[in-house]
Amino acid sequence: MAYNLKEVVANKPARFTSGHRMCAGCGAPVVGRMVLRALKNEDHAVICNATGCMEVSTFIYPYTSWTDSFIHTAFENAGATLSGVEAAYKAMKRQNKLSGTTTKFIAFGGDRRNI
Ligand code: SF4
Repeated sequence: MAYNLKEVVANKPARFTSGHRMCAGCGAPVVGRMVLRALKNEDHAVICNATGCMEVSTFIYPYTSWTDSFIHTAFENAGATLSGVEAAYKAMKRQNKLSGTTTKFIAFGGDRRNI
């Protein structure tokens, strides 16, 4: 399905907000913001971020640029961490312990070199 990028940028709120401490000109925040703009407004997301610039510069306790749920994990296991979270989500869904919201699971593997 084709979509109009100008419309998406103009009309969808940024779920990855400004105020982070990534370097000026870094491509990673742009990529992260656009990935999240691909979600439907009503979707919830669980973001898992392996250690890297994207993690250390966007989630400095108690501040965060992420408006969705966020998990920091080690360099090598963002996929494993997030698949465990998704398995728990599916189990709770089967048991009717969660409402009807749709949750997306997104892993970022560190900084711009390996997003
Ligand atoms: S990847 Fe990290 S060090 Fe490189 S430009 Fe982005 S924020 Fe700066």
